[in-house]
Formats: sequence, C-alpha cells, structure tokens
Amino acid sequence: MVTDAAFEIPEIEISTKVQEFLSRPKKCLINGNWVEAASGKSFSIYNPANGSIIDMAAEGDKEDIDAAVKAARKVFDDPKHPWNTMTPSERGKLIWKIGDLILENLDELAELESLDNGKPVGVAKVADVPLSADLFHYMAGWATKIEGNTIPISVPYAAGAKFHAFTMREPVGVVGQIIPWNFPLLMAAWKLGPVLATGNCVVLKPAEQTPLTALRLGEIIQEAGVPDGVVNIVTGMGETAGAALAAHDDVDKVAFTGSTEVGKMIVQAAAGNLKKVTLELGGKSPNIIFKDTENLEQTIASAASAIFFNHGQCCCAGSRLYVEKDIFDEVVDGVSAAADQIKIGPGLAGDTDMGPLVSSEQLNRVTGFMNAGQEAGATCVTGGRRLGENGYFVTPTVYKDTNDDMSIVREEIFGPVVVADPFDDIEQIIDRGNDTTYGLAAGIWTRDISKAHRTAARLRAGTVWINCYNIFDSALPFGGYKQSGWGREMGHEVLDLYTETKAVCLGL
Ligand code: ADP
Repeated sequence: MVTDAAFEIPEIEISTKVQEFLSRPKKCLINGNWVEAASGKSFSIYNPANGSIIDMAAEGDKEDIDAAVKAARKVFDDPKHPWNTMTPSERGKLIWKIGDLILENLDELAELESLDNGKPVGVAKVADVPLSADLFHYMAGWATKIEGNTIPISVPYAAGAKFHAFTMREPVGVVGQIIPWNFPLLMAAWKLGPVLATGNCVVLKPAEQTPLTALRLGEIIQEAGVPDGVVNIVTGMGETAGAALAAHDDVDKVAFTGSTEVGKMIVQAAAGNLKKVTLELGGKSPNIIFKDTENLEQTIASAASAIFFNHGQCCCAGSRLYVEKDIFDEVVDGVSAAADQIKIGPGLAGDTDMGPLVSSEQLNRVTGFMNAGQEAGATCVTGGRRLGENGYFVTPTVYKDTNDDMSIVREEIFGPVVVADPFDDIEQIIDRGNDTTYGLAAGIWTRDISKAHRTAARLRAGTVWINCYNIFDSALPFGGYKQSGWGREMGHEVLDLYTETKAVCLGL
C-alpha cells in the first residue's frame, strides 16, 4: 500500500460547549441515573483524524446490561407508571420535544459527531443532525395513530352466534437496540423514535467507536422529560455488552444495525428466548447508468456521491457502478475526476469534503481490499492510497477491469472504493445487479420511464433510486432483501415491528 506520508493534518480548536461535554464523565444511563460500569472499567474513544484519545466511556458488560434491562422491565410491567398512563398525545409531545432539543443543540451535536466519527462537520450539520430531529418529529405524529381494526368474523362452526372482534397494537415490551458507528446519532434516532412512539422501553448500545452523540442524546431525552428507565443506554463492546443484550432472556425484541456477519450472531443469540429480531445489514449496491440518462454530468456527480458520501461508510453505498458501454469511459473518467477533486481532511476543518475512516480497524479493512484489488489485477483508475500516518485517511478510489469473482466486487468494503464495469445488455445487467448475497439498495439512471420501472421491479433490493441516489426520508421505509436484513426502519412500517397484534373477540 502506497502511503502519502507528507499529508498534514491541521490542529483544530474545539468549541467550549463540546469541551464542556467532553469534560463530563461518560457513564451509562440506567434507570435515569448516569452510572459507572459495574466493573469500573472504561474504554478509549479515538479521534480518527489523528489517532489521539478524545475521551473515555464506561465499559458496560453483562452486569450493566442486566441492570438496564431490569430498569426497563420495571417500567414496562407497571401499569401505573407514568410512561404507561401517559396519553398517546402526551407521548407524542415528548417525542416532538426531543426533536426540538436536537435542533436547539444542532451545532454542538454536529461538532461532536464530526470529532468522534470523522465526518465533515458541515455534512453533520445539514444531514445527520436535522434528519435525526426530523425522525423524532415524524414519529411524534404516529404516537396518536397506532390503531387496530374492527374485523367482521363469520365463525362457521358457531351458527347464529354474534361476536365483536377487533385488533389492538400493543408495545412489544423491552427492546434491545444495537447500533453502528457510521451515522451514530441518526442510527440512535432511527431506533429510539419508533420505540417511543409505540410505548416500549429500551436498552440502547451504541457502537464502541462512536458513543458520544448517543450519550448526549441521552441527556436530551432526560431534558425532554421522558420518564426514568424508559430509555437506558449502555456503552461497551459488541462481543460483551452487545452480545449480552442480544441474548438476554428478558428482552422481547432486538433491533440491530451493522454487519451481516454480526447480524447472523444476533439471530443465534436471540434464539434462546425467541425474541423478535429486526436487522439492517450490509450491502453491495448496484448503481446502473444507461446511456440515455437525462443529464450525464449530473449523473456522474451523483454516481461519485453515491459511493463517496460518508467516505463510503454507508450500507447502501453505490459500490458497484455499471455503465452502458457507449458512455463507460466518460463516466469512469468523470467519477475519477470527481474523486480527485474531493478535499480530504479532518472532519472539523470547514473545507473538508471527506474525513478519515472511523477507526484503525476500518483503515486496515479498506486498505486490505485495495491491496486485494491490485493483486487480483483490477486497474486502479484513481486513489488506492493511504494518506498520512496518524489519522485513518484513504483516497477515494475507482477500479475498473474487474471480474465478478474479485473480492472488491463481491464483498462490502465499507470505504470510498467503487468498482466500475461496462454492460450492453439490459437483461444481463439486471442479473449481474442481483448477483450478490445482499439486497439493500440499487440505483438506475435513464430517461426511459418504462425501462426504469421494468428494471426497478426486477432488482431485488429494499430501495431502488431512479435518477437519484441516497435519498432518505423519515416517511420512507428502508431495509433489505436477502442478507441485507429483516424488517424495515422508518415510515409507518417500522411501527408494526415494535408492536404486537392482539386479537380480541367478544361474544355478544
Ligand atoms: P463493524 O464491523 O462495521 O464495526 P459491527 O456489525 O461489528 O460493525 O458493529 C455494529 C454494532 O454491533 C456495534 O454496536 C458493535 O458493538 C455491535 N456488535 C459487534 N459484535 C457484536 C456481537 N457479537 N453481539 C452483539 N453486538 C455486537
């Protein structure tokens, strides 16, 4: 791996508000109290821009997960608890307030996210933080709309009898939620919003790489007035705290976002008490550009952003770029030129387009794939390098001349690396698009509306973007086919996954 050692990282001042937050000890939130880990242990949180330690957080483990689950269970099982006597409208107002408080603290949250994760602070300000607030605002509206049905029943073996039958949607109970590091605050919002809208209680475990904004969100949730014990947050490692939460016998449901590999472990851990499981996992999404795309320049810019946004650390990244033969060279040159224009630097520098990868593990993973691509004989059109020696920076990278057996084509890299390949047959490209164990997202670029719809219908993916990419909305369900997951996040569909249906039948 070529390393550009001359790459220099400027020192950046941190705002007083973030300094104040960093000076407070990072503990677990259990039953409304901020507590040390039972073991007294803590772990380091690194600045991915220079590898330095920015903070320490309590290293929760099984004992802490137990205490948090107990706190959540106590609230959930007490019919007189304020959380359970609260009207849906009051609950909705509380959730709305969380959204408001996120917006009030937008700058601080964005800065914290950038420091912890490495993403450009400007992106966190316009995307991560406002979208997190929007999710709570959107979910606030649903609190008053969790409805069942009245069902006319016939009961053939009870001739002449009359019944009044209906369904109710009830909270599933105590929920364990395990989230990743790529959008730390937004993933916490995606998970906590529906939990609260449906009246559940929760134990959230943030990723060990990026726990800071989830902890700040915990403070905000308390400030909004969510009763103690409803939302518990335990920081710690995946293999210990996360595994304990997934396996816990008194947890009714586990919701996980992360790698497909860990998703499979979650399923196994959940089997002990057959808790409900939802999973949002990896992807290797095809982004298919037809030669009749409306505006080639814009399509090229979008194809670059589809892979390079968030440094490629998106489960839905458009990492397989398929381009109709006639325009292949132009698109590859354009995406490569866009890659070369990207200003790389620390997330907190105002002019940074792309920050460092999140951790040294990710750096090793991504550079490992770059090496594998090189060794397998793919042509590196641009990028393929590490920048500097302390932070976890890599250059945005474009490969061509690949074949479908190469690891860079088959596996999720989770970095700013795209493989580009030409096609000339629509049937063949749909099959190649679907030739993956994943099924999270896909992109199509064409001005032929009928071709767009035909292709979208055949792609086995939870989201298909036509003439756009990476468009998310709180109202739009997101999730995967195949090994990209079980269930959907956001939209009203997610509410089904946080409620049980109770059928009630009354003999008249
Ligand atoms: P990545 O490999 O990209 O770091 P992971 O899937 O490992 O993503 O991590 C996503 C989340 O899953 C994190 O919160 C992590 O702590 C947690 N996690 C990792 N391993 C396990 C496990 N064995 N059981 C439960 N949670 C885990």
